[in-house]
Amino acid sequence: MIIVLLGPPGAGKGTQADKLAARLGIPKIATGDVLRAALRDGTPRGREAKAFMDRGDLVPDSVILAILQDVMSSPATEKGAILDGAVRTVPQAQGVGIMLAEVGRRIDKVLLFDIGDRKLISRLSGRTVCGQCQTPYKDREPGSKCEKCGGSLMRRQDDEPDAVRNRLDVYRAQTEPVVEYYKGIEMEPVKIDADADVDEVTARALKALEPE
Ligand SMILES: [Zn+2]
Repeated sequence: MIIVLLGPPGAGKGTQADKLAARLGIPKIATGDVLRAALRDGTPRGREAKAFMDRGDLVPDSVILAILQDVMSSPATEKGAILDGAVRTVPQAQGVGIMLAEVGRRIDKVLLFDIGDRKLISRLSGRTVCGQCQTPYKDREPGSKCEKCGGSLMRRQDDEPDAVRNRLDVYRAQTEPVVEYYKGIEMEPVKIDADADVDEVTARALKALEPE
């Protein structure tokens, strides 16, 4: 079973990908992870990606898709995969479809984890991280002391309320067309209300994956 996950920052998509992978016995394929692995292992695709990064450019979708294709044609994903971070835009959605078709596979389900913006803003801007040892904290004020090293907790610039609002605006603007695209190819994303505790959200996702 090949599952594509969509969702805004702060909706817990990465955590759910891990949980679903464990429950379904198929690997989580996070685009960031496979890119880092290709760079680390110095594969031909990894070297291609590195050339772009060395020039200060973004790694183009075509290279990312080639790296994903290597993974999706390997024995590790024989039983399926949970694709996290592969689809954020319509061209990426199209690219993933073509990439899978080339290795004789197709998406079985698209899940969209969602929560309202206000909740996401309070979740994300509630996160702090230790300025010294980088330990992340939930619901601790900037300026509090780190339990591990006594360092001062700070909020990442990305998690400041204005930055979060901006990230969410970008996400919404990109995702609506992606949802429409999938509807158009009869692969309508199943919306999962992610405003609940982690296990409850996993249960909702598993239910959505049951055959009709
Ligand atoms: Zn610390």
